[in-house]
Amino acid sequence: ILEVRNLTCGYQRLPVFTGVNLTLYPGQLSGLVGPSGCGKSTLIKAILGLVRPWEGEIWFRGKQLKPGVAPPKVGYVPQVETVDWSFPVTAEEVVMMGCYQNQKILPWQSKRERNIARQLLNRVGIEHVAHQPIGNLSGGQQQRVFLARALVGEPDIVFLDEPTSSSDLQIQHELLHLLADLNQQGLSIFLSTHDLNSVATHLPWVICFNHGLICQGEPIDIFTSAILEKTFGTEMVVF
Ligand code: ATP
Ligand code: MG
Repeated sequence: ILEVRNLTCGYQRLPVFTGVNLTLYPGQLSGLVGPSGCGKSTLIKAILGLVRPWEGEIWFRGKQLKPGVAPPKVGYVPQVETVDWSFPVTAEEVVMMGCYQNQKILPWQSKRERNIARQLLNRVGIEHVAHQPIGNLSGGQQQRVFLARALVGEPDIVFLDEPTSSSDLQIQHELLHLLADLNQQGLSIFLSTHDLNSVATHLPWVICFNHGLICQGEPIDIFTSAILEKTFGTEMVVF
């Protein structure tokens, strides 16, 4: 569905990674795993056209994308630490914002968008919080609101940047379960994480990354001490 060829990205003059080649296949549920600061978010942003690559190409469904242009039919759940909403916007309204991405003025609160938002909140299992201010929701619920927003427009693939980093094990487990369900329904999913224990073991396909691609495969093949050491450095405790 998506192919990254010889991609090099950096900020100012410092490269973050060089010559990355990666293919994502339709229907995949895969995880990009690597330590903090290794370039996971940068790679996702480059694929989405939010960071301009220094070099390389991105292909989506057999077509090369222009630099800085997002692939069509793609959803994105950005990395969020804690969301501090200074004005009371409801969960439903956050999802509705996804309907207006390409418009400068919000045709605020039309019935059509409200229905879409409702259906998507239902799909991620939190329709009952539709009218709650987003700031009142738990971290796990907020995460699902952003996932619902990313599903607006029925994307073929959704990118989630560190979706589990700020929640406890139970919430992480529930979110991964939901993602597996959506994947079963045909959605391709690509997520990043630096948390091996809880996340990577749930994923059918793992891509080890540290300022460049190290290797990829099924967790059972990938999680050897040699590969983990290469990905996370020598301080990594191998379990
Ligand atoms: P984490 O697991 O902590 O989210 P990451 O793997 O997502 O880390 P990136 O956010 O891609 O890492 O950052 C890779 C490197 O690029 C880091 O050294 C970071 O400081 C640097 N960097 C990221 N964004 C910018 C920016 N906008 N300007 C300059 N440097 C940046
Ligand atoms: Mg990141």
